[in-house]
Order: sequence, then structure tokens, then C-alpha cells
Amino acid sequence: MRYAAGVDVGSTQTKAIIVDESHAIVARALTDTGAYLVRAAERAFESALSEAGLPREAVGQVIGTGYGRFKVEFGDAQVTEISCHAKGAWALIPATRTVIDIGGQDTKAIKVSDRGEVLDFAMNDKCAAGSGRFLTNSAEAVGLQVSEMGARSMDSKQPVRLSTVCTIFVESDILTYLAQGKKVEDILAGVHGAIAARTVALVRRVGAESEVTFTGGVSRNIGIVKAVQEKLGVPVNVSPDSHFTGALGAAIFAMERVLAGSAMTGSEVLA
Ligand code: ADP
Repeated sequence: MRYAAGVDVGSTQTKAIIVDESHAIVARALTDTGAYLVRAAERAFESALSEAGLPREAVGQVIGTGYGRFKVEFGDAQVTEISCHAKGAWALIPATRTVIDIGGQDTKAIKVSDRGEVLDFAMNDKCAAGSGRFLTNSAEAVGLQVSEMGARSMDSKQPVRLSTVCTIFVESDILTYLAQGKKVEDILAGVHGAIAARTVALVRRVGAESEVTFTGGVSRNIGIVKAVQEKLGVPVNVSPDSHFTGALGAAIFAMERVLAGSAMTGSEVLA
């Protein structure tokens, strides 16, 4: 059996996936990126190898993706995260035609073909407004973990209206609401609603063709998934491996190179 890997060095978290020839996931690893991107990439890859019980030589090709893709120094090539999320979402849910990816610092809407190729995309990446970092800061402001905020927001009866999706100003907005006696769940529902509105506006720029699949770390937040679904008016797929979508797409590109017997190094495959 031949193996290939994808390593997605994100602004917040680094993900690694190893696949076999049939594109089945044989191992996954997730680690905080931190300040040393090269080390995060190595840590994630080593950890995936150990989960798979494979030596490094067993993996024929490794592709780096994500904002730190050029820091995957042991990688054979790099592919943009837009192409990788399209390919990964298609591999997880083949009927996918629109991908919503919300990560730590940006949001993307991608239109994909029936073979997982990118047809069009739109992206908010000027600042972290309305992305994962905004959620992490909001969770901290109400004294919760980011993994707890989605479920908590589901208890909301009267969501507040947030005046900003700015990562810097949201904290003071939230503190003002807390001082006014607003409930934590209502504040969080307001946070999720504001992000969802921004996300849906982005999706409309490429057209929300069914089926819609949500990828990236923020897709693990059930509050955002629900808010996006409500505002979009169509169901949204979330795979249990949604956080690994970019890494999976990269691993599939790497497997295509293994099967093609490619020995090219350091080349950028375009979106
Ligand atoms: P990047 O690729 O930019 O590092 P990710 O796609 O890894 O971003 O997403 C990171 C974001 O995912 C975090 O900022 C956080 O908001 C969200 N997140 C991560 N883990 C969880 C979790 N267990 N529950 C809910 N949200 C999560």
C-alpha cells in the first residue's frame, strides 16, 4: 500500500492527514501552530505518522497548504488552501458544490465542480474580523472555552445585536452587555449571528449552490453552523473531519503525485 500526506499550517492550528491509495484517512493530527511554524508542521506530521504506525519513508509525497505552507520544509510541493479545501470537501462529501471555510483569520466561500475543482471563490482576509480569532476573543470575554460557546448559545431566547465584528472591539462590546445584565447565551447568539450574516454575504458573492459544506475549525462550533444555516436558508453539511479538510485535500493532491510517479519538488500547484 502507498501513502501520502497533507500538512495544513494554519494561523491558529496545524493539521496533518495521511491517506492511502483509496483516499481513506489512515491518520490525523492537530496541534496549535504557535510561533514556530516549521516546528508545528513537523510536530503534526510526526504525530500523524505515529498514529498510523508508519515510518517517514512509507509516505511517498507530502504537500503543504495553509498560510504557513512554505514552512513545511520536508514537503514536496505546496498547494493553496482554496484548492485544498475544495478538494477535501469534495472527498468528504462528493455532492459538495459550495464550500464555506472559516479559519482563525479568514473566511472563504468556494464554488466547486463535481470533481472538487475550484470554479470561483471569494474571501475576507483583510483582517480577522468575523473569523475564528473573533470567536476565541468572544469566548474569553464571557469566560468560556471556544469549544463550549456553540452549545451555550443554543439556550438563547433574545440574542443581542452586536455593533461590531472587529476582533479588537468585540471584547469591550461584550463587557458592556455583561455590565447591563445580558445573558451569556444571548451575547454568544449575537456573536454567532453577526458572523453568520457576514459569512452568508460572502457566500452570495459566489452563489450558494447546493450542497453546501462547511469546513475549517469554526465549523466545529454548532452555534455558527445553526446561524449560517438559518441565514442561508439551506442545510449545511459538516463532516466529523471538517477541521481537517484542507489537510485532506493536500493529502489527496499528494497521492495524485504518488500515483503519477511525480518526482518534482518545491513546485506550487495553482488554485
Ligand atoms: P487556521 O487554519 O487559520 O489555523 P482553523 O481552520 O484551524 O484555522 O480554525 C481555527 C478556529 O477554529 C479557532 O480560532 C476557533 O474559533 C475554532 N475552533 C477550533 N477548535 C474548536 C472547537 N473544538 N470547537 C469550536 N471551535 C473551534
